[in-house]
Amino acid sequence: MRIVFAGPHLSAVADLAVALQRLGHEVAALLPGLIPDPVRIGAYLDGYTADHHAAVGRAPGRPNTLLACGFSGHGFKLAPAIGLALAQLATDGHTELPIGHLDPARALPEGPPRRMVADELTVSAPAH
Ligand SMILES: Cc1cc2nc3c(=O)[nH]c(=O)nc-3n(C[C@H](O)[C@H](O)[C@H](O)COP(=O)(O)OP(=O)(O)OC[C@H]3O[C@@H](n4cnc5c(N)ncnc54)[C@H](O)[C@@H]3O)c2cc1C
Repeated sequence: MRIVFAGPHLSAVADLAVALQRLGHEVAALLPGLIPDPVRIGAYLDGYTADHHAAVGRAPGRPNTLLACGFSGHGFKLAPAIGLALAQLATDGHTELPIGHLDPARALPEGPPRRMVADELTVSAPAH
């Protein structure tokens, strides 16, 4: 079993060793029996679209290419359904699942991309 903890931007962590120690304590407290030390630490690109919804379906101009990207911040709960939709698209050519709003060719809002969910929470959090 693998458990993934997604944390804040590494650049926002002043002292990684302290942050990891705190994470280890929380894992030990909340998930007894699990080895609390991380086995791998990595920094990965967040993937967002301008309207903050994923892009799922045929790549524009490339009908033999299926896309499923732009899930950062909200993909885990969608993964089983998106996997099913992709499998159906690949094998049957269509899916009955309502993914039209995720069409990679949809019109996206103009202007700067939406900020990350974490940024929005940080901005809206009351000052201490
Ligand atoms: C930087 C980042 C931040 C994110 N943050 C969030 C978040 O905060 N909240 C949220 O809900 N979602 C978040 N997501 C989205 C979420 O990670 C995905 O939606 C979710 O992991 C998709 O699950 P999955 O099981 O479909 O695919 P994955 O988790 O990608 O699992 C696929 C697995 O298959 C393995 N694999 C691939 N090819 C092969 C092969 N040929 N043979 C054997 N194994 C193979 C891969 O190594 C991988 O382990 C984030 C994504 C990214 C990239």
